[in-house]
Amino acid sequence: MEKSSVDDLTNLATRRAIIMPAFEIYGEIGGFYDYGPIGTRIRHNIIAQWRGAFIEELGNLEIDSTIVAPEPVFEASGHLSSFSDPMAICDKCHTAYRADKLLEEYFESKSMHKEAAGLKKLKPDELEQMLKQYNIKCGKCGTALAKVSVFNLMLKTGIGPLEAVTGYLRPETAQGIFMDFKRIFSTHGLKLPIGIGQVGRVFRNEISPRKMLVRLREFSQMELEYFFDPNSDALSINGEQVGDSFLEHEISMLPKSEQEAGSSELKRMSLKQCLEKGYMPNKLFAFLIYKESVFLRSLGFPEQSIRFRQALDVELPHYSKGNIDVEALIGDTFEEIIGNAYRTDFDLANHQKHSGKDMSIINGEAKVLPHVVEASFGIDRIFWSIMYNSMYMDKERGWEVLKLDKRVAPYRCAVFPLQKDDKLVEKALQVSKLLVSNGIPSYYSQSNSIGKRYAKADEIGVPFAVTVDYQTLEDNTVTVRKRDDTKQVRSDIGGLDAVL
Ligand code: AMP
Repeated sequence: MEKSSVDDLTNLATRRAIIMPAFEIYGEIGGFYDYGPIGTRIRHNIIAQWRGAFIEELGNLEIDSTIVAPEPVFEASGHLSSFSDPMAICDKCHTAYRADKLLEEYFESKSMHKEAAGLKKLKPDELEQMLKQYNIKCGKCGTALAKVSVFNLMLKTGIGPLEAVTGYLRPETAQGIFMDFKRIFSTHGLKLPIGIGQVGRVFRNEISPRKMLVRLREFSQMELEYFFDPNSDALSINGEQVGDSFLEHEISMLPKSEQEAGSSELKRMSLKQCLEKGYMPNKLFAFLIYKESVFLRSLGFPEQSIRFRQALDVELPHYSKGNIDVEALIGDTFEEIIGNAYRTDFDLANHQKHSGKDMSIINGEAKVLPHVVEASFGIDRIFWSIMYNSMYMDKERGWEVLKLDKRVAPYRCAVFPLQKDDKLVEKALQVSKLLVSNGIPSYYSQSNSIGKRYAKADEIGVPFAVTVDYQTLEDNTVTVRKRDDTKQVRSDIGGLDAVL
Protein backbone atom coordinates (compact mmCIF):
# COMPACT_ATOMS: atom_id res chain seq x y z
CA MET A 1 0.00 0.00 0.00
CA GLU A 2 1.17 3.51 -0.75
CA LYS A 3 0.85 6.46 1.63
CA SER A 4 -1.79 8.94 0.44
CA SER A 5 -1.08 12.66 0.26
CA VAL A 6 -2.76 15.58 2.01
CA ASP A 7 -4.50 16.37 -1.30
CA ASP A 8 -5.89 12.81 -1.42
CA LEU A 9 -7.16 13.27 2.13
CA THR A 10 -8.75 16.62 1.26
CA ASN A 11 -10.47 14.99 -1.73
CA LEU A 12 -11.74 12.11 0.36
CA ALA A 13 -12.97 14.41 3.14
CA THR A 14 -14.91 16.49 0.60
CA ARG A 15 -16.20 13.57 -1.47
CA ARG A 16 -17.61 11.81 1.59
CA ALA A 17 -18.65 15.04 3.40
CA ILE A 18 -16.44 14.03 6.33
CA ILE A 19 -15.72 17.71 6.84
CA MET A 20 -16.97 20.62 4.76
CA PRO A 21 -16.66 24.40 4.62
CA ALA A 22 -19.17 26.03 6.96
CA PHE A 23 -21.99 28.24 5.57
CA GLU A 24 -20.78 27.28 2.09
CA ILE A 25 -24.01 28.30 0.33
CA TYR A 26 -23.35 31.92 1.33
CA GLY A 27 -19.69 31.81 0.36
CA GLU A 28 -16.82 30.42 2.33
CA ILE A 29 -14.94 32.36 5.01
CA GLY A 30 -11.55 30.86 5.79
CA GLY A 31 -11.07 28.97 9.02
CA PHE A 32 -14.58 27.58 9.59
CA TYR A 33 -15.45 23.95 8.91
CA ASP A 34 -18.40 21.70 9.74
CA TYR A 35 -18.00 18.03 10.55
CA GLY A 36 -20.30 15.72 8.57
CA PRO A 37 -21.78 12.50 9.97
CA ILE A 38 -18.60 10.38 9.57
CA GLY A 39 -16.32 13.15 10.83
CA THR A 40 -18.56 13.73 13.84
CA ARG A 41 -18.38 10.08 14.85
CA ILE A 42 -14.59 10.02 14.60
CA ARG A 43 -14.34 13.30 16.52
CA HIS A 44 -16.58 11.96 19.30
CA ASN A 45 -14.40 8.86 19.54
CA ILE A 46 -11.24 10.95 19.93
CA ILE A 47 -12.92 12.91 22.74
CA ALA A 48 -14.12 9.69 24.42
CA GLN A 49 -10.58 8.25 24.35
CA TRP A 50 -9.15 11.46 25.81
CA ARG A 51 -11.79 11.50 28.54
CA GLY A 52 -10.96 7.90 29.42
CA ALA A 53 -7.20 8.50 29.57
CA PHE A 54 -6.99 11.96 31.13
CA ILE A 55 -10.13 12.31 33.24
CA GLU A 56 -11.40 8.87 34.28
CA GLU A 57 -8.13 6.93 34.59
CA LEU A 58 -6.45 9.70 36.58
CA GLY A 59 -9.42 10.43 38.84
CA ASN A 60 -9.58 13.98 37.46
CA LEU A 61 -12.64 16.20 37.08
CA GLU A 62 -14.23 17.82 34.05
CA ILE A 63 -16.21 21.05 33.77
CA ASP A 64 -18.14 22.91 31.09
CA SER A 65 -17.73 26.68 31.42
CA THR A 66 -19.07 29.56 29.30
CA ILE A 67 -17.65 30.49 25.92
CA VAL A 68 -18.24 34.24 26.33
CA ALA A 69 -16.55 36.13 29.15
CA PRO A 70 -16.31 39.85 29.97
CA GLU A 71 -13.20 41.91 29.29
CA PRO A 72 -11.68 41.90 32.82
CA VAL A 73 -11.18 38.12 32.56
CA PHE A 74 -8.86 38.59 29.59
CA GLU A 75 -7.18 41.61 31.12
CA ALA A 76 -6.24 39.35 34.01
CA SER A 77 -5.23 36.40 31.82
CA GLY A 78 -3.00 38.64 29.70
CA HIS A 79 -4.77 37.75 26.46
CA LEU A 80 -5.87 41.32 25.86
CA SER A 81 -2.31 42.64 25.87
CA SER A 82 -0.34 39.64 24.64
CA PHE A 83 -2.42 37.26 22.53
CA SER A 84 -1.43 38.55 19.11
CA ASP A 85 0.36 37.74 15.86
CA PRO A 86 2.42 39.91 13.48
CA MET A 87 0.36 41.04 10.49
CA ALA A 88 1.33 42.53 7.12
CA ILE A 89 -1.47 44.22 5.15
CA CYS A 90 -1.15 44.98 1.46
CA ASP A 91 -1.45 48.76 0.96
CA LYS A 92 -3.21 48.31 -2.37
CA CYS A 93 -5.69 45.39 -2.10
CA HIS A 94 -5.78 45.18 1.73
CA THR A 95 -5.12 41.43 1.87
CA ALA A 96 -3.80 40.52 5.32
CA TYR A 97 -0.92 38.09 5.85
CA ARG A 98 0.63 36.59 8.93
CA ALA A 99 4.08 38.10 8.44
CA ASP A 100 6.16 35.36 10.09
CA LYS A 101 4.35 32.53 8.30
CA LEU A 102 4.63 34.28 4.94
CA LEU A 103 8.39 34.62 5.35
CA GLU A 104 8.61 31.03 6.61
CA GLU A 105 6.91 29.76 3.46
CA TYR A 106 9.22 31.87 1.32
CA PHE A 107 12.37 30.55 3.06
CA GLU A 108 11.17 26.95 3.02
CA SER A 109 10.42 27.22 -0.72
CA LYS A 110 14.05 28.29 -1.21
CA SER A 111 15.35 25.60 1.21
CA MET A 112 16.66 28.36 3.52
CA HIS A 113 15.84 26.31 6.63
CA LYS A 114 18.10 28.24 8.99
CA GLU A 115 16.48 31.55 8.09
CA ALA A 116 13.03 29.95 8.45
CA ALA A 117 13.87 28.65 11.94
CA GLY A 118 15.32 32.04 12.95
CA LEU A 119 12.02 33.81 12.25
CA LYS A 120 10.54 32.78 15.58
CA LYS A 121 12.89 35.17 17.35
CA LEU A 122 11.99 38.27 15.37
CA LYS A 123 10.01 41.30 16.55
CA PRO A 124 7.53 43.10 14.25
CA ASP A 125 10.04 45.75 13.10
CA GLU A 126 12.59 43.01 12.32
CA LEU A 127 9.99 41.08 10.32
CA GLU A 128 9.23 44.29 8.46
CA GLN A 129 12.93 44.60 7.58
CA MET A 130 12.93 41.00 6.30
CA LEU A 131 9.90 41.58 4.08
CA LYS A 132 11.75 44.49 2.49
CA GLN A 133 15.08 42.67 2.27
CA TYR A 134 13.59 39.69 0.43
CA ASN A 135 11.15 41.81 -1.57
CA ILE A 136 8.11 39.82 -0.44
CA LYS A 137 5.01 40.80 -2.38
CA CYS A 138 1.28 40.45 -1.93
CA GLY A 139 0.19 37.11 -3.40
CA LYS A 140 -2.97 38.70 -4.80
CA CYS A 141 -1.87 41.94 -6.47
CA GLY A 142 1.93 41.87 -6.44
CA THR A 143 2.44 45.03 -4.36
CA ALA A 144 5.50 44.95 -2.07
CA LEU A 145 4.52 44.38 1.57
CA ALA A 146 5.90 47.19 3.69
CA LYS A 147 4.44 47.29 7.20
CA VAL A 148 4.07 44.80 10.02
CA SER A 149 1.67 45.52 12.88
CA VAL A 150 0.48 43.50 15.84
CA PHE A 151 -3.01 42.00 15.65
CA ASN A 152 -4.96 40.72 18.68
CA LEU A 153 -6.52 37.34 17.93
CA MET A 154 -9.55 37.48 20.19
CA LEU A 155 -13.06 37.81 18.75
CA LYS A 156 -14.97 40.62 20.42
CA THR A 157 -18.69 40.77 21.13
CA GLY A 158 -21.15 43.08 22.92
CA ILE A 159 -23.10 41.63 25.85
CA GLY A 160 -26.67 42.82 26.62
CA PRO A 161 -29.20 44.80 24.55
CA LEU A 162 -27.10 47.97 24.41
CA GLU A 163 -23.91 45.97 24.23
CA ALA A 164 -22.84 47.86 27.33
CA VAL A 165 -20.49 45.11 28.46
CA THR A 166 -17.60 44.20 26.20
CA GLY A 167 -17.06 40.47 25.97
CA TYR A 168 -14.80 38.09 24.09
CA LEU A 169 -15.20 34.55 22.81
CA ARG A 170 -12.67 32.50 24.75
CA PRO A 171 -9.40 31.77 22.92
CA GLU A 172 -8.71 28.76 25.22
CA THR A 173 -10.94 26.77 27.58
CA ALA A 174 -8.46 27.17 30.43
CA GLN A 175 -9.65 30.44 31.96
CA GLY A 176 -13.02 28.95 33.01
CA ILE A 177 -11.11 26.26 34.89
CA PHE A 178 -8.90 28.80 36.70
CA MET A 179 -11.84 30.98 37.72
CA ASP A 180 -13.87 28.01 39.01
CA PHE A 181 -10.94 26.16 40.58
CA LYS A 182 -11.24 27.37 44.15
CA ARG A 183 -14.94 26.56 44.47
CA ILE A 184 -14.50 23.13 42.89
CA PHE A 185 -11.51 22.34 45.12
CA SER A 186 -13.31 23.17 48.35
CA THR A 187 -16.73 21.69 47.48
CA HIS A 188 -15.24 18.39 46.28
CA GLY A 189 -12.88 17.85 49.20
CA LEU A 190 -9.88 17.61 46.90
CA LYS A 191 -6.15 17.24 47.54
CA LEU A 192 -3.32 18.45 45.31
CA PRO A 193 -2.26 17.42 42.76
CA ILE A 194 -5.55 17.40 40.89
CA GLY A 195 -6.39 17.85 37.23
CA ILE A 196 -9.45 19.69 35.98
CA GLY A 197 -10.27 19.34 32.31
CA GLN A 198 -12.61 20.81 29.79
CA VAL A 199 -13.65 20.00 26.21
CA GLY A 200 -15.08 22.81 24.15
CA ARG A 201 -15.07 25.35 21.37
CA VAL A 202 -12.56 28.18 21.26
CA PHE A 203 -12.12 31.11 18.89
CA ARG A 204 -9.06 32.81 17.46
CA ASN A 205 -9.36 35.43 14.76
CA GLU A 206 -6.43 33.97 12.81
CA ILE A 207 -4.97 36.36 10.23
CA SER A 208 -4.59 33.73 7.55
CA PRO A 209 -6.39 30.45 8.30
CA ARG A 210 -5.13 27.60 6.16
CA LYS A 211 -4.35 23.92 5.64
CA MET A 212 -7.96 22.87 6.27
CA LEU A 213 -8.20 21.96 9.97
CA VAL A 214 -4.68 23.08 10.89
CA ARG A 215 -5.32 26.78 11.33
CA LEU A 216 -8.97 27.48 12.08
CA ARG A 217 -10.79 30.46 13.53
CA GLU A 218 -13.26 28.29 15.45
CA PHE A 219 -11.93 25.02 16.78
CA SER A 220 -12.11 22.70 19.78
CA GLN A 221 -9.74 21.89 22.55
CA MET A 222 -9.48 19.24 25.24
CA GLU A 223 -7.55 20.94 28.01
CA LEU A 224 -6.26 19.62 31.27
CA GLU A 225 -5.01 22.00 33.97
CA TYR A 226 -3.04 20.05 36.57
CA PHE A 227 -2.87 21.97 39.87
CA PHE A 228 -0.03 21.08 42.22
CA ASP A 229 1.76 22.32 45.33
CA PRO A 230 5.03 23.96 44.20
CA ASN A 231 6.57 23.10 47.60
CA SER A 232 6.07 19.37 47.23
CA ASP A 233 7.46 17.06 44.57
CA ALA A 234 5.42 14.03 45.70
CA LEU A 235 3.55 12.73 42.68
CA SER A 236 0.31 11.04 43.58
CA ILE A 237 -2.42 10.46 41.07
CA ASN A 238 -5.88 9.39 42.06
CA GLY A 239 -4.73 9.23 45.69
CA GLU A 240 -1.90 6.77 44.93
CA GLN A 241 1.81 7.40 44.84
CA VAL A 242 3.11 7.14 41.25
CA GLY A 243 6.21 4.94 40.90
CA ASP A 244 9.18 6.01 38.76
CA SER A 245 8.85 3.33 36.07
CA PHE A 246 7.14 5.73 33.64
CA LEU A 247 10.39 7.74 33.55
CA GLU A 248 11.99 4.91 31.51
CA HIS A 249 9.51 5.61 28.69
CA GLU A 250 11.27 6.89 25.56
CA ILE A 251 10.15 9.65 23.24
CA SER A 252 11.54 11.33 20.12
CA MET A 253 12.67 14.68 21.40
CA LEU A 254 13.76 17.84 19.62
CA PRO A 255 15.52 19.95 22.27
CA LYS A 256 15.81 23.72 22.18
CA SER A 257 19.61 23.52 21.80
CA GLU A 258 19.35 21.48 18.58
CA GLN A 259 16.95 23.98 17.05
CA GLU A 260 19.15 26.89 18.07
CA ALA A 261 22.01 25.15 16.26
CA GLY A 262 19.83 24.93 13.14
CA SER A 263 19.21 21.18 13.41
CA SER A 264 15.95 19.26 13.47
CA GLU A 265 17.52 15.93 14.37
CA LEU A 266 15.41 13.98 16.82
CA LYS A 267 16.96 12.45 19.93
CA ARG A 268 15.47 9.24 21.24
CA MET A 269 15.56 9.69 24.99
CA SER A 270 13.85 8.61 28.18
CA LEU A 271 11.70 10.97 30.23
CA LYS A 272 14.28 10.60 33.00
CA GLN A 273 16.95 12.00 30.67
CA CYS A 274 14.60 14.80 29.62
CA LEU A 275 14.16 15.76 33.28
CA GLU A 276 17.89 15.56 34.00
CA LYS A 277 18.67 17.80 31.05
CA GLY A 278 16.04 20.30 32.16
CA TYR A 279 13.82 19.92 29.08
CA MET A 280 10.86 19.41 31.41
CA PRO A 281 10.29 21.44 34.58
CA ASN A 282 9.07 18.66 36.89
CA LYS A 283 7.91 15.07 37.26
CA LEU A 284 4.22 15.88 36.85
CA PHE A 285 5.01 17.50 33.50
CA ALA A 286 6.99 14.39 32.49
CA PHE A 287 4.09 12.20 33.61
CA LEU A 288 1.70 14.09 31.33
CA ILE A 289 4.12 13.70 28.42
CA TYR A 290 4.21 9.95 29.17
CA LYS A 291 0.41 9.76 29.16
CA GLU A 292 0.26 11.71 25.89
CA SER A 293 2.78 9.45 24.20
CA VAL A 294 0.78 6.34 25.21
CA PHE A 295 -2.51 8.04 24.30
CA LEU A 296 -1.34 8.97 20.79
CA ARG A 297 -0.09 5.44 20.11
CA SER A 298 -3.46 4.09 21.28
CA LEU A 299 -5.18 6.35 18.75
CA GLY A 300 -3.10 4.68 16.03
CA PHE A 301 -0.36 7.25 15.38
CA PRO A 302 2.78 5.48 14.11
CA GLU A 303 5.84 6.14 16.30
CA GLN A 304 7.70 8.07 13.58
CA SER A 305 4.76 10.43 13.00
CA ILE A 306 5.10 12.05 16.44
CA ARG A 307 7.80 14.24 17.94
CA PHE A 308 8.11 16.23 21.16
CA ARG A 309 9.58 19.68 20.57
CA GLN A 310 10.90 21.91 23.31
CA ALA A 311 9.71 25.44 22.51
CA LEU A 312 12.28 28.20 22.08
CA ASP A 313 12.18 30.93 24.74
CA VAL A 314 10.88 33.44 22.18
CA GLU A 315 7.98 31.16 21.34
CA LEU A 316 6.74 30.82 24.91
CA PRO A 317 3.21 32.12 25.48
CA HIS A 318 2.99 35.01 27.94
CA TYR A 319 1.90 32.66 30.76
CA SER A 320 4.49 29.92 30.34
CA LYS A 321 7.83 29.08 31.97
CA GLY A 322 8.47 26.18 29.61
CA ASN A 323 6.63 24.46 26.76
CA ILE A 324 6.84 21.15 25.01
CA ASP A 325 4.78 20.90 21.87
CA VAL A 326 3.70 17.53 20.63
CA GLU A 327 3.84 17.61 16.86
CA ALA A 328 2.42 15.19 14.29
CA LEU A 329 3.31 14.74 10.65
CA ILE A 330 0.79 16.07 8.20
CA GLY A 331 2.22 15.78 4.69
CA ASP A 332 5.88 16.67 5.05
CA THR A 333 5.55 19.10 7.95
CA PHE A 334 5.22 18.55 11.66
CA GLU A 335 2.25 20.47 13.11
CA GLU A 336 1.63 21.14 16.79
CA ILE A 337 -1.27 19.02 18.01
CA ILE A 338 -0.77 19.35 21.79
CA GLY A 339 0.75 22.25 23.71
CA ASN A 340 2.19 21.49 27.16
CA ALA A 341 2.96 24.51 29.30
CA TYR A 342 4.23 25.15 32.78
CA ARG A 343 1.83 27.98 33.64
CA THR A 344 3.17 28.35 37.20
CA ASP A 345 0.70 30.37 39.35
CA PHE A 346 0.46 32.97 36.58
CA ASP A 347 -3.29 32.59 36.04
CA LEU A 348 -4.45 32.15 39.64
CA ALA A 349 -2.22 35.02 40.82
CA ASN A 350 -3.48 37.35 38.10
CA HIS A 351 -7.14 36.52 38.71
CA GLN A 352 -6.48 37.11 42.40
CA LYS A 353 -4.94 40.50 41.64
CA HIS A 354 -7.60 41.66 39.16
CA SER A 355 -10.69 40.34 40.96
CA GLY A 356 -9.50 41.11 44.48
CA LYS A 357 -10.55 37.55 45.54
CA ASP A 358 -8.14 35.24 47.35
CA MET A 359 -7.52 32.31 44.98
CA SER A 360 -5.40 30.22 47.35
CA ILE A 361 -6.76 26.97 48.79
CA ILE A 362 -6.22 24.92 51.92
CA ASN A 363 -4.41 21.74 50.93
CA GLY A 364 -4.41 19.49 53.99
CA GLU A 365 -3.14 21.95 56.61
CA ALA A 366 -1.34 24.40 54.35
CA LYS A 367 -2.57 27.47 52.49
CA VAL A 368 -1.30 27.22 48.90
CA LEU A 369 -1.58 29.13 45.66
CA PRO A 370 -1.16 26.13 43.38
CA HIS A 371 1.04 25.98 40.30
CA VAL A 372 -0.27 24.49 37.09
CA VAL A 373 1.01 22.35 34.27
CA GLU A 374 -1.28 22.38 31.29
CA ALA A 375 -1.84 19.90 28.47
CA SER A 376 -3.84 21.53 25.70
CA PHE A 377 -5.00 19.17 22.96
CA GLY A 378 -6.38 20.54 19.67
CA ILE A 379 -9.14 18.16 18.61
CA ASP A 380 -9.25 19.26 14.98
CA ARG A 381 -5.53 18.91 14.39
CA ILE A 382 -5.53 15.51 16.12
CA PHE A 383 -8.45 14.48 13.91
CA TRP A 384 -6.75 15.70 10.73
CA SER A 385 -3.37 14.16 11.54
CA ILE A 386 -4.89 10.79 12.48
CA MET A 387 -6.74 10.81 9.17
CA TYR A 388 -3.56 11.70 7.28
CA ASN A 389 -1.42 9.10 9.02
CA SER A 390 -4.04 6.37 8.48
CA MET A 391 -4.67 6.87 4.78
CA TYR A 392 -3.19 4.58 2.11
CA MET A 393 -3.82 3.84 -1.56
CA ASP A 394 -4.21 0.14 -2.26
CA LYS A 395 -3.52 -0.25 -5.97
CA GLU A 396 -4.68 -3.87 -5.95
CA ARG A 397 -8.06 -2.94 -4.56
CA GLY A 398 -8.18 0.19 -6.69
CA TRP A 399 -9.24 2.46 -3.86
CA GLU A 400 -8.09 4.21 -0.72
CA VAL A 401 -8.11 2.59 2.72
CA LEU A 402 -8.31 4.54 5.96
CA LYS A 403 -6.61 2.31 8.52
CA LEU A 404 -8.18 3.91 11.57
CA ASP A 405 -7.75 2.20 14.90
CA LYS A 406 -11.03 0.56 15.92
CA ARG A 407 -11.22 2.95 18.89
CA VAL A 408 -11.53 5.96 16.60
CA ALA A 409 -13.18 4.40 13.51
CA PRO A 410 -16.65 5.86 12.80
CA TYR A 411 -18.21 2.38 12.97
CA ARG A 412 -16.79 -0.91 14.15
CA CYS A 413 -18.53 -2.76 11.39
CA ALA A 414 -20.70 -2.56 8.25
CA VAL A 415 -23.45 -5.09 7.59
CA PHE A 416 -24.39 -6.04 4.02
CA PRO A 417 -26.79 -8.48 2.41
CA LEU A 418 -24.89 -10.17 -0.44
CA GLN A 419 -27.58 -8.98 -2.80
CA LYS A 420 -31.00 -7.34 -2.72
CA ASP A 421 -33.02 -10.44 -1.93
CA ASP A 422 -35.82 -9.90 0.62
CA LYS A 423 -34.69 -12.82 2.76
CA LEU A 424 -31.06 -11.65 2.86
CA VAL A 425 -32.12 -8.04 3.49
CA GLU A 426 -34.34 -9.06 6.41
CA LYS A 427 -31.60 -11.19 7.97
CA ALA A 428 -28.89 -8.52 7.46
CA LEU A 429 -31.11 -5.89 9.10
CA GLN A 430 -31.57 -8.24 12.06
CA VAL A 431 -27.79 -8.72 12.36
CA SER A 432 -27.18 -4.98 12.19
CA LYS A 433 -29.74 -4.29 14.94
CA LEU A 434 -28.29 -7.07 17.08
CA LEU A 435 -24.79 -5.62 16.84
CA VAL A 436 -25.96 -2.10 17.72
CA SER A 437 -27.94 -3.43 20.69
CA ASN A 438 -24.76 -5.24 21.83
CA GLY A 439 -22.90 -1.92 21.84
CA ILE A 440 -21.02 -2.49 18.55
CA PRO A 441 -21.51 0.63 16.39
CA SER A 442 -22.57 -0.66 12.96
CA TYR A 443 -24.32 0.53 9.84
CA TYR A 444 -26.37 -1.29 7.26
CA SER A 445 -26.08 -0.82 3.51
CA GLN A 446 -27.62 -2.56 0.51
CA SER A 447 -26.96 -0.01 -2.24
CA ASN A 448 -24.60 -0.78 -5.14
CA SER A 449 -22.55 -3.92 -5.67
CA ILE A 450 -20.87 -5.65 -2.74
CA GLY A 451 -17.48 -4.51 -4.12
CA LYS A 452 -18.54 -0.85 -4.04
CA ARG A 453 -19.88 -1.27 -0.52
CA TYR A 454 -16.51 -2.69 0.59
CA ALA A 455 -14.78 0.25 -1.07
CA LYS A 456 -16.95 2.79 0.75
CA ALA A 457 -16.43 1.07 4.09
CA ASP A 458 -12.63 0.98 3.53
CA GLU A 459 -12.55 4.66 2.62
CA ILE A 460 -14.19 5.77 5.83
CA GLY A 461 -12.09 3.42 7.94
CA VAL A 462 -14.61 0.78 9.04
CA PRO A 463 -12.46 -2.14 10.32
CA PHE A 464 -14.91 -5.00 9.55
CA ALA A 465 -17.65 -5.80 7.05
CA VAL A 466 -20.16 -8.55 7.81
CA THR A 467 -21.92 -10.08 4.81
CA VAL A 468 -25.13 -12.09 5.01
CA ASP A 469 -25.41 -14.67 2.21
CA TYR A 470 -27.50 -17.73 1.41
CA GLN A 471 -25.47 -19.93 3.73
CA THR A 472 -26.46 -17.58 6.57
CA LEU A 473 -30.10 -18.55 6.08
CA GLU A 474 -29.12 -22.20 6.56
CA ASP A 475 -26.56 -22.16 9.38
CA ASN A 476 -26.64 -18.65 10.92
CA THR A 477 -23.04 -17.90 9.94
CA VAL A 478 -21.78 -14.79 8.14
CA THR A 479 -18.54 -13.76 6.47
CA VAL A 480 -16.43 -11.20 8.29
CA ARG A 481 -14.03 -9.26 6.03
CA LYS A 482 -11.12 -7.41 7.60
CA ARG A 483 -10.42 -3.95 6.20
CA ASP A 484 -6.64 -4.09 6.49
CA ASP A 485 -5.89 -7.34 4.63
CA THR A 486 -9.32 -8.10 3.03
CA LYS A 487 -9.13 -11.62 4.55
CA GLN A 488 -12.49 -13.21 5.23
CA VAL A 489 -13.49 -15.61 7.98
CA ARG A 490 -16.79 -17.35 8.58
CA SER A 491 -18.32 -16.68 11.99
CA ASP A 492 -21.41 -17.66 13.86
CA ILE A 493 -23.69 -14.63 14.33
CA GLY A 494 -23.75 -15.33 18.07
CA GLY A 495 -19.92 -15.23 18.16
CA LEU A 496 -19.48 -11.91 16.32
CA ASP A 497 -18.77 -9.98 19.53
CA ALA A 498 -15.50 -11.88 19.90
CA VAL A 499 -14.46 -11.47 16.24
CA LEU A 500 -15.13 -7.74 15.78
P1 AMP B 1 -2.10 26.74 22.13
O1 AMP B 1 -2.97 27.25 23.23
O2 AMP B 1 -1.82 27.77 21.08
O3 AMP B 1 -0.87 26.01 22.61
O4 AMP B 1 -2.98 25.66 21.38
C1 AMP B 1 -3.26 24.41 21.93
C2 AMP B 1 -3.66 23.48 20.82
O5 AMP B 1 -4.80 24.01 20.14
C3 AMP B 1 -2.60 23.34 19.74
O6 AMP B 1 -1.68 22.32 20.07
C4 AMP B 1 -3.40 22.98 18.52
O7 AMP B 1 -3.68 21.59 18.48
C5 AMP B 1 -4.70 23.72 18.76
N1 AMP B 1 -4.75 24.96 17.96
C6 AMP B 1 -4.19 26.15 18.27
N2 AMP B 1 -4.50 27.07 17.34
C7 AMP B 1 -5.28 26.45 16.43
C8 AMP B 1 -5.94 26.88 15.24
N3 AMP B 1 -5.88 28.13 14.81
N4 AMP B 1 -6.67 25.96 14.55
C9 AMP B 1 -6.77 24.68 14.97
N5 AMP B 1 -6.18 24.24 16.10
C10 AMP B 1 -5.44 25.10 16.82
